Amino acid sequence: MKELVAIYDILYQFYGPQNWWPGEGLEIAIGAVLTQQTNWKNVEKALSKLKEANCLNLDCLQSISISRLENLIISSGYYKIKAQRLKNLIDLFVKEPNPSRKMLLDVKGLGYETADAILLYLFEQLYFVIDAYTFQILGRMGSYKEQNYLELQRLFMQSIPKDVQVYKEYHALLVKHAKSYCKKKEPICSLCPLNDQCEYHLEASNQ
Ligand code: SF4
Repeated sequence: MKELVAIYDILYQFYGPQNWWPGEGLEIAIGAVLTQQTNWKNVEKALSKLKEANCLNLDCLQSISISRLENLIISSGYYKIKAQRLKNLIDLFVKEPNPSRKMLLDVKGLGYETADAILLYLFEQLYFVIDAYTFQILGRMGSYKEQNYLELQRLFMQSIPKDVQVYKEYHALLVKHAKSYCKKKEPICSLCPLNDQCEYHLEASNQ
């Protein structure tokens, strides 16, 4: 689908490279779990606490008590659930340092978005990450309203170059765009670089 390539080109020219996801190594996977249902600022606080405690590594995360782990990640919200999810994920990494997507999805509490973020940003595998921002922007643009996660992901993966850097950059650009212009409430359409091909904006301008 040509539009997806055009959207990437426009966003890339407008915002420039995002060089995202923050963090490296195991921190990426931990961040992917902690960012569920919260914003990245809260995740950063939790990651700092884990760093201060010298616990951004498999040994510590395996041996640390669940209550201490909960305490360190409290800023990320839903900390009891997330501490258990982290423990489940660490158990997998100890058994299988290069897990498949199926193995990640079998970890209790990991869905497609978290598993694919880990596969793409940590293991550099070709899985395009779809999140609420992706649905928000593309839904408003008009062509992709009825897609579920896997359908929309397939559309991206069939349309854009099979390149890990492009996958990473595109996801990051969509996040940037949703935070900057295509906000959940009151998108700033008049200044948006995609507005001449966006159904939401064109409908609003014709009213
Ligand atoms: S024109 Fe408005 S609704 Fe459409 S993508 Fe841009 S900010 Fe979002």
